[in-house]
Amino acid sequence: MSDISKLFSGIARFQQLHYGENPELADRLKSGQRPNALLIGCSDSRVDPALLTDCAPGDLFMVRNVANLVPPYEQGLGYHGVSSALEYAVCFLDVKHIIVMGHSGCGGIGGLMGATQGKELGEFIGKWVNIAAPARDKVLKELAGKSLEEQTRACEKEAILVSLQNLLTFPWIEERVKEGELTLHGWYYNIASGQLKYYNALTDKFEVQVASYKNAVENS
Ligand SMILES: [Zn+2]
Repeated sequence: MSDISKLFSGIARFQQLHYGENPELADRLKSGQRPNALLIGCSDSRVDPALLTDCAPGDLFMVRNVANLVPPYEQGLGYHGVSSALEYAVCFLDVKHIIVMGHSGCGGIGGLMGATQGKELGEFIGKWVNIAAPARDKVLKELAGKSLEEQTRACEKEAILVSLQNLLTFPWIEERVKEGELTLHGWYYNIASGQLKYYNALTDKFEVQVASYKNAVENS
């Protein structure tokens, strides 16, 4: 995109869709938000969660960062951007679901895996993606000898599980999950096919939830 005027005309189309054609929605949103789910997604421009899930304004509370990571619960100094968004969604908005959505071809996870080959990461990115170091270490052990490509795809999925585990280190999340008031979900989106996989804790596998576009069309 060489020209940002596309963004202004986008706002105009958005207005038409959500204000012009659905005035009740705009009226409801004016008085506050009551999203049902918090989604933690990657900052990657190809995986906008609201676009992918066809959500309307007010449906999803969202955190996006490099590699859709959740750091562990940590008190003390520092700016806790992810933690404060979690706190607001869970303790104030009372969301019922938290979804961590990873994706194929993730640059952040690619960086984490590439760093083992001596590639340099940026001033901030290296420390940040290191949250997923346990995922990388597991993959390097279990898929030793496999291609970097295969290891990276596996790490993208394992990193989702690390974030799900880290979510449980927040006492108010753990408590609500135990009480059955909050459910955690791991999703993996394939950019090339549009396929969505869902983490099944019973089988410990990512299973197809929404078939790839090609399969969906062929089977319809
Ligand atoms: Zn990514």
